[in-house]
Amino acid sequence: MLFNADRTVTLQTRTCIHCQGTCKVAGEKKCPKCKGTTRGPRGGLGRCGCFRGMVPDFDNKVPCTNCTDGQEPETITDSVPKEQYRALFASNTIPIEFTEANRGSSFNESLIGLGLVAGIQDYGTIWDRLHRGEELDVHNEIREDIANGWNQLCKIARKDGDKIRLCAKLVVILHRGGYSARASFTDDTTAVVKAANSELPESAGMAYGTRMAEQGLNGTLLAASAHTQ
Ligand SMILES: [Zn+2]
Ligand SMILES: [Zn+2]
Repeated sequence: MLFNADRTVTLQTRTCIHCQGTCKVAGEKKCPKCKGTTRGPRGGLGRCGCFRGMVPDFDNKVPCTNCTDGQEPETITDSVPKEQYRALFASNTIPIEFTEANRGSSFNESLIGLGLVAGIQDYGTIWDRLHRGEELDVHNEIREDIANGWNQLCKIARKDGDKIRLCAKLVVILHRGGYSARASFTDDTTAVVKAANSELPESAGMAYGTRMAEQGLNGTLLAASAHTQ
């Protein structure tokens, strides 16, 4: 993964996760327990626990079918290597800005984390410190927490035509239940903050999610992505 000066990201290759770069993976052999029949101890078909009567054969390696040279292409859902992630914030390539919202946690912030780069639920600890004059300390600690974390590339970058483009900045929303950090792809973070502050509150999300679940839908996910008007 290369982070370029024009904020594009170039994907490279990385060690193949199937063969760990060796180009060889375990072969297969007939399961010694069921002799390939998949029958369990009491005779039930498919009850053995092996995969279709086969188990990995670590003594007989076969060529990896996932790669040719022990390498495979990186993808946007790969994690950013920790050192590179840290450097993005240390070098201010991704600036972090702070804003306060006098509200509790949203349902999304407390339970799902859709679209969040970072965040914690602290039931008011940070909010109290902010209003005791510890704003600078709080901001510095959150900066550290974010830089020490790590994330999939897609949390801080997105596809833009045939390129991958890094976000313009992160905005940290400090609220009565903790904080959440979100990527903004424009320098003006107003829209991101507005969308975050209009997410369903925790209690409403619970009720909404329950109602949806009763109808057989994925109420949790729906509630997390629903917004108040
Ligand atoms: Zn491989
Ligand atoms: Zn078996």
